[in-house]
Amino acid sequence: MSTEATVFFPTLLSVLKVGAHTLRNRTLMGSMHTRLESLDRSIDRLSLFYAERARGGAGLIVTGGYAPCQDGLLDETGPLLITTAQADVLRPIPQAVHAEGGKIILQILHTGRYAKVARPVGASDIPSPINSRAPRALSTAEVWQTVEDYVRCAELAQRAGFDGVEIMGSEGYLLNQFTVTRTNNRSDEFGGSMENRHRLPVEIVRRTRERLGSQFLLMYRVSALDLVEGGAPADDIIQLAQAVQAAGADILNTGIGWHEARIPTIAYVVPRAAWRFAAARIKQAVTIPVIVSNRINTPDLAEEILASGDADMVSMARPFLADADFVRKAAQGRADEINTCIACNQACLDYIFADRPATCLVNPRAGRELEFSLMPSRAMQRKVAVIGAGAAGLACALTAAERGHAVTLFEAGPEIGGQLNLARAVPGKQEFNELLRYFRQGVARHGVTLRLNSRADAPSLAAGHYDRIVIATGVRPRLPQLLGMAHPKVMSYADLLSGRVQAGRRVAVIGAGGIGFDVATFLLHDEHEGNAANVPQALEQFYAEWGVDTSPAAAGGLKPAQPISAPREVTLLQRKPEKPGRSLGMSTGWALKAELARRGLRTLPGCVYEHIDDAGLHLRVNGVPQTLNVDTIVICAGQDSENALVAELRALGLAPDVIGGAELAAELDALRAIDQGTRLGLAI
Ligand code: NAP
Ligand code: SF4
Repeated sequence: MSTEATVFFPTLLSVLKVGAHTLRNRTLMGSMHTRLESLDRSIDRLSLFYAERARGGAGLIVTGGYAPCQDGLLDETGPLLITTAQADVLRPIPQAVHAEGGKIILQILHTGRYAKVARPVGASDIPSPINSRAPRALSTAEVWQTVEDYVRCAELAQRAGFDGVEIMGSEGYLLNQFTVTRTNNRSDEFGGSMENRHRLPVEIVRRTRERLGSQFLLMYRVSALDLVEGGAPADDIIQLAQAVQAAGADILNTGIGWHEARIPTIAYVVPRAAWRFAAARIKQAVTIPVIVSNRINTPDLAEEILASGDADMVSMARPFLADADFVRKAAQGRADEINTCIACNQACLDYIFADRPATCLVNPRAGRELEFSLMPSRAMQRKVAVIGAGAAGLACALTAAERGHAVTLFEAGPEIGGQLNLARAVPGKQEFNELLRYFRQGVARHGVTLRLNSRADAPSLAAGHYDRIVIATGVRPRLPQLLGMAHPKVMSYADLLSGRVQAGRRVAVIGAGGIGFDVATFLLHDEHEGNAANVPQALEQFYAEWGVDTSPAAAGGLKPAQPISAPREVTLLQRKPEKPGRSLGMSTGWALKAELARRGLRTLPGCVYEHIDDAGLHLRVNGVPQTLNVDTIVICAGQDSENALVAELRALGLAPDVIGGAELAAELDALRAIDQGTRLGLAI
């Protein structure tokens, strides 16, 4: 019998020599600004956040971006590293990471014309389409001073105890603004020729290396694909990568797309590993290690990319938010236990844009490690019944079981998931399958007694002598009071997305909330589309639809987007007079709306619905009567709570906890459901 232990993910988990450092594996927790950086007294919270990821095995961690000077701030409250006092405040972060055997570098970020400050600066005075504040061009002397600011910031990072720095040169921030003609029309030594446009980043790397010595880890993040008009072709990018290598960089990270790009780069609509080709091009042209990034969220995919030779290391920022133990689980052959990032952006990027500290939809503990304790219950083991295996019930049952309680989970349907099963039917949202896999195996592994096809009733729950009864029975679609609702043309979104019924060719969708848009997405895709995470057809379709040119000669990686033919005509209606889609996620809604507009989605705000008959939907739009001659009318008019059991239990003298949609149907989504379920699971 062989005594050799199985080695899981042998390439991903092999060591990597980077400059003077040896990294324990090839995973990078990429930089993510969490907003904790700018909160007062949040160093303990931030230290614990990073320490957990180091304990979980991350090979190298990069902090959120710190500005090297006032001009480089993200916004007025953005994090800054310009004084020794500020460096000393940061000291607990690397200490906490080192105590867990990890390594951490600090990202230096000058936002340039993206800065949300009174008067931003830039390579030139060309304004950005995503910042109403016009930039002032830096003088030549100020550019040289910026080089000094970077070096000084790196020195302060070293003083604070960081293992190195990442010089942020991508995503359209200041250094990227210097490297391309789109934003650089200077005539001094920092403009004009390619060599001049590359001078700022190259000088920063060269002088940082000179000043900080060979032991200091120096990473440069190069924009591997700008995805904007006037962006760089591959040749320019490769020459920059080579120049940065010659100037002393130990390793190259890659960034994809400027913030002003009109192509999504990390949202769920982007197929997994869509951008590996851009990293692979650089890898072929340099000798230092190259990191691939964006939409890589499983160890299998990371291993496959590294084994193929396309890159030397894999950056995963959001996946480490979703699961701090990503590496440890992969190394122990427990990859199916990983809580996978579903690329929703709802609790990370969308929170950050809303000035809230980042956390994670699938892991509400992320960024709140001080607040959420997973300690075993100190009290005696409780007998817990959870009714409803949707997102809230699953999160509660799993958390309570992890803490040692005896949990029975009742589900009326034949499978777990509730509304998550509807979400995963929407093209582009297949990542929800990973969340269901995580819950499914967690429930089994932690000994939750799962009763499928079991509609729990009050008398039997009372007879079960449970210490706690949790009602997580969710929601049912709200059906408006409208003449003709019983017409065969009418269906609820739940019936459509669950596959119980089929829609015709001309469809009206009543209600333009998140689910109305999900239904429009479903209707405007062919059946075979969108179900293909990580396969070549999905990639080719994505590149064609969004106008991504993967050939090296394409400036910025762009080509004209191809027209798309949709299988149906869809009209999305709402009563409010405002433009539909306001409630969609800030970082994903624009891409979804753009995609649906290309597929011919028509939206009609200001509707008053009158009745439905064989002729279709009769309504008034801004007072004008109309009939929409449609084959199908899908109702997406919100939900009502499904909580009849609560009153029945109370009538028997019991005091159930009520969570998720059963508690409040309005604005229920997986984010609130999982957060509430997890919090209750921790409190039992
Ligand atoms: P919702 O966002 O509340 O939207 C309900 C829609 O129905 C609104 O457009 C509303 O607009 C309309 N409506 C409400 N009552 C109506 C009535 N009596 N008759 C006719 N129309 C009515 O709810 P949802 O779309 O069902 O989504 C539920 C939750 O899931 C939301 O919190 C949503 O954000 C979340 N979700 C998020 C995503 C995502 O991608 N992030 C996707 C799906 C769902 P008018 O009143 O103006 O007509
Ligand atoms: Fe990933 Fe969504 Fe969590 Fe962000 S909130 S880390 S996108 S699962």
